[in-house]
Amino acid sequence: MRTKFIAGNWKMNLTKTSSIELARAIAKAIPNNVDVGIAPPFVYIDAVASAISGSKLLLGAQDAYCEPSGAFTGDISPPMLKDLGVKFVLTGHSERRHILHEPPELVSRKALAIYTAGLTPIHCVGETLEERDSHQTLEVIRSQLEELKPTTITDPNRLVIAYEPVWAIGTGRTATDQQAQEVHHFIRDTMTKMWNRDFADRVRIQYGGSMKPENATSLLSQPDVDGGLIGGAALKSESFLAIVNAAARLSP
Ligand code: PEP
Repeated sequence: MRTKFIAGNWKMNLTKTSSIELARAIAKAIPNNVDVGIAPPFVYIDAVASAISGSKLLLGAQDAYCEPSGAFTGDISPPMLKDLGVKFVLTGHSERRHILHEPPELVSRKALAIYTAGLTPIHCVGETLEERDSHQTLEVIRSQLEELKPTTITDPNRLVIAYEPVWAIGTGRTATDQQAQEVHHFIRDTMTKMWNRDFADRVRIQYGGSMKPENATSLLSQPDVDGGLIGGAALKSESFLAIVNAAARLSP
């Protein structure tokens, strides 16, 4: 049984004060039967860590570089994040792939460095509208999954995949329940081939792309949808907690 995992990606939003307020509001309302995480901007992570200390809320980061230390001006390493209490880090988010032009080799090195540092990569995969329309969705997803190396990543509890169709992120357009389930099932199948069935059955696969309180229950009811990666709706405690509570109602 996979525990549902709802994570909020705050992107480049909020202030130090509003980050602390939002984190506190979420931390005090987490149900026991779901995992919940937030990924604030780097500069607020330490303040948020203090604000939520002692709670069940998991702290995440939106990115990390692929080296532990050194002359990489402006970058932040996985061990530095670990030092602040971070547990998970996003890799391959579509905004980094498509706006910041991160190539697959860099995404791959980042994911492996994050895992090697003892953190959990939330590895984002997803097709553009053009790729969907030209029937390349599954091929794109497979190659993005292959950025992960089964010889390095061996603990299924320390890997999360987020299926985020690029055309659904921040657009208000959501994948249908069937579209999400079809790709999630394909992701599990591909992981079975890359690792094995037991490993694939344990990895949680989140859906991301305009998930909100109104569509969360039906998306989260799909058999291979194990949670959500939430952008816009994660910036207000009411909408984020409504999604968390939808996941809790579906969980034993
Ligand atoms: C995201 O950026 O990961 C995301 C899912 O954003 P939104 O929920 O705003 O579509």
